[in-house]
Amino acid sequence: MGRLFSVKMRSSKGGAHLCGAEAIVDESSISKAVYSFVKRALSSKRGIPDFVNLKVEAVKQEPIYSPLLPVFHVSQPLREVLVKLFKLASIPPSLGLSFYSLLLKGPSPTGGVMRGALIVEVPSGKRLEPDKFKGVRASCLGITSRALGELKEKAGKFYTDRLKDALVLTSKICSYPGVLGELCVSDDPDYTTGYFSIPKIGYFRLFNLKPYGLSKGGRVIFVSRNLEVPPFIDYLKNSPFIGSSFPGYYFELPFR
Ligand code: AMP
Repeated sequence: MGRLFSVKMRSSKGGAHLCGAEAIVDESSISKAVYSFVKRALSSKRGIPDFVNLKVEAVKQEPIYSPLLPVFHVSQPLREVLVKLFKLASIPPSLGLSFYSLLLKGPSPTGGVMRGALIVEVPSGKRLEPDKFKGVRASCLGITSRALGELKEKAGKFYTDRLKDALVLTSKICSYPGVLGELCVSDDPDYTTGYFSIPKIGYFRLFNLKPYGLSKGGRVIFVSRNLEVPPFIDYLKNSPFIGSSFPGYYFELPFR
């Protein structure tokens, strides 16, 4: 294996964000990643971009190689499951549900969507992200070809690139000590599937999380009171994280 490179793409139109993608790849795979990201930018359902930014950068820190979280495909009633999941993550359900509602309204102070995630202290509900308009973005994400193969094989017809990207992102977030869980509602109006994930337990894939056509959404990272925010943000932004194996895609929940 050669040197590792981070490849990032973001596209926009008239200044508004359209889509983004990133990967950590071996130097021999840079052109393939660049090609597939340009293709993705040009085929975004949200329109043809007038700006595509591509960044290719050598990875300077030693990456963290870690197993991805297992995925649980949830078919039980949404609210009931959310309450159980919040309890399992030691998050008061009323707090969890209030942030779920906030994501559906638009979590930025103007009622719009944010580029990054909220960080919410449990149980106070205090928002800890320094910029309430932008939130905090997690970056420097990759997956080994072995883990990707396992994910594709185990998820079968339920595999999508979105699932892969979200699973790597949340596995990184949930690997940090003091994180209790993460809730994601996509801001894509056509995409109503999201997840709640819990460290060491799993990624719960939730369907019909929002009404079809709604362009609101976001991510909330719930953390315990003693978590120090600046090193956590530095970890989210800068520590290279590579998913190295995938435990399984399950249709039964690990609780009743
Ligand atoms: P998406 O799942 O791409 O529709 O994103 C849903 C929401 O998650 C966005 O509105 C952002 O607020 C947030 N988000 C997207 N990408 C990231 C990221 N890399 N790190 C943190 N938050 C993100």
